[in-house]
Amino acid sequence: MNGVFSANEYLTRSNLMKAYLFPEYDTPIKHGSKVAVVGGGNVALDSARTALRLGADEVSIVYRRSREEMPARAEEVAHALEEGVTIKFLTLPVRLLGKDGWVAGMECLEMELGEPDESGRRRPVPIKGSEFELDADLVVMAIGTRANPLLAATLPGLQRDKRGYIDADPVTGQTSIREVFAGGDIVTGSATVIEAMGAGKRSAAAIHRLLTGEQAPI
Ligand SMILES: Cc1cc2nc3c(=O)[nH]c(=O)nc-3n(C[C@H](O)[C@H](O)[C@H](O)COP(=O)(O)OP(=O)(O)OC[C@H]3O[C@@H](n4cnc5c(N)ncnc54)[C@H](O)[C@@H]3O)c2cc1C
Repeated sequence: MNGVFSANEYLTRSNLMKAYLFPEYDTPIKHGSKVAVVGGGNVALDSARTALRLGADEVSIVYRRSREEMPARAEEVAHALEEGVTIKFLTLPVRLLGKDGWVAGMECLEMELGEPDESGRRRPVPIKGSEFELDADLVVMAIGTRANPLLAATLPGLQRDKRGYIDADPVTGQTSIREVFAGGDIVTGSATVIEAMGAGKRSAAAIHRLLTGEQAPI
C-alpha cells in the first residue's frame, strides 16, 4: 500500500492536532476558570458549553440583543442554560481589561432594544451609565467568520463573489481557474460539515472527469 491510504488510514496516520489525547499530544488547550464568550450564534453556544465541559467554573455568553433575536438554534440555547451557562442578554462588550499581559475581564454596557434595523431585528441601544465589569480569564470571540482576504493576493485569477468567497460551480466546484476546484465554507460561507463533504465528493468526481475524461460515480 506504499503511499496509498484509505480515508480511515489517512486520518489515523496524518498529523492531526489530537488535542483530546493530551498529554500524548501537546496541542495546547487553554483552560479558563471564568470564561466569557462574545456572540449569539451556534458557535458561541458550542464554545461556551465546551468551556464548561473543560472545567471552567463560570461561563458567560455576552450577547447584545435579546433571546428572541439570538441566531443560535433555540434548543442550543435551552441546552446551554440547562448545562449551567449564563447568558447575559442585551449586553455589549466594550473593551477587554488586562492584567500582567493577560486578559482579566471585560467592560460591558447594558442595552435596550430600539427600532428595527435593516435586518428587521430591533436595534440594541446602549443604556447610558450602565457600564459594568465582567471577570474573565479567557475570552472567546464568536462573532462570525469571513473569507481569508489573502485569497486575492495568492490566486489573483480566482474569481470571488462580493463577500470575498470563491465563485465555484455549485455542482462541480469548478472555479474560474481550470485546474482549481473549491467547495465548503470558502464557497458558501459558514455552513455545515455535510455540505462541505458533499461539495468535496462532487468536486473529486469532476476532477477525475477532467483528468481522465471518464465519468466517476459520486
Ligand atoms: C465551533 C464550530 C462548531 C460547529 N459545529 C458544527 C456542527 O455541529 N455541525 C456542522 O455540520 N457544522 C458545524 N460547524 C461548521 C463546520 O465546521 C463547517 O461548515 C465545516 O467545517 C466546513 O468545512 P470546510 O472543509 O469547508 O472548512 P474547514 O473545516 O474550515 O477546513 C478548511 C481547512 O483548510 C485549512 N486551510 C486554510 N487555509 C489553508 C491554506 N492556505 N493551505 C492549506 N490549508 C489551509 C484549514 O486549516 C482547515 O483545516 C461548526 C463550526 C464551528 C466553528
